Amino acid sequence: RLSLNHVSKSFVEKTVIDDLSLDIEPGQFVALLGPSGCGKSTILRMLAGFESITLGNIQHGEMCLSSETTHVPTEARNFGMVFQSYALWPHMTVLENIGYPLKIQKVSRNERQQRIQNVLDIVQLDDFKDRFPSQLSGGQRQRVALARSLITEPDVILFDEPLANLDRHLRDSMEMTFRDFHRRTGATMVYVTHDQAEAMALADKIAVLKEGQLMQWSTPEDLYLRPESEWVANFIGQGS
Ligand code: ATP
Ligand code: MG
Repeated sequence: RLSLNHVSKSFVEKTVIDDLSLDIEPGQFVALLGPSGCGKSTILRMLAGFESITLGNIQHGEMCLSSETTHVPTEARNFGMVFQSYALWPHMTVLENIGYPLKIQKVSRNERQQRIQNVLDIVQLDDFKDRFPSQLSGGQRQRVALARSLITEPDVILFDEPLANLDRHLRDSMEMTFRDFHRRTGATMVYVTHDQAEAMALADKIAVLKEGQLMQWSTPEDLYLRPESEWVANFIGQGS
């Protein structure tokens, strides 16, 4: 399992994550939900290893990834990632962008082709595979970034508002894509969103955050039926 134990993060004087503890079980689909500025991206960046932590620790199975004294580098964590600003390589086609992580891992050409075809089907980009990123819409680029994060079949995938730039119709179909993908791979997913409906639709368990503090950690159903505070009830109510 992936655990945050009493994690705090401060920038200069300001504490943006305050004594956060979460146990994420293998294969769980977890949403980090809360208003803008509550610290969602910071948590993801700490999990990814882009950001050190000030207090507490992050454990993955037997391994300590981060503490006051430990910092396992991003490359050694083997997490998949799709962030708000998704960077594609402009000089590579869709196909090359998606297959590149496998090339680095020296996966055979045959296996590469098969896995690329798999993820192209998942994100429905087969017709665009020979285009360059500059020839795609924002939503299509986002799907390329998603495909690229899936290609190495990581155990844990971190998502930072991956649907934020898509229109309603595409979001709905991508939500289905996420659920499908989760079912088929059994990967652990940590999914940041400020959209209550999206979190409810996707996640097994939701962490509701307010100003760096965990307000509630429960199933979508419990969040809806048994909010533990007035603030949570109001926040969840706004979305429906
Ligand atoms: P949004 O929904 O708008 O993306 P968020 O929940 O992802 O918001 P974070 O990006 O995690 O929020 O930011 C949490 C707080 O930490 C904010 O107040 C932000 O200004 C602050 N913060 C983030 N990064 C830094 C930094 N490098 N230096 C100082 N403050 C920072
Ligand atoms: Mg953010």
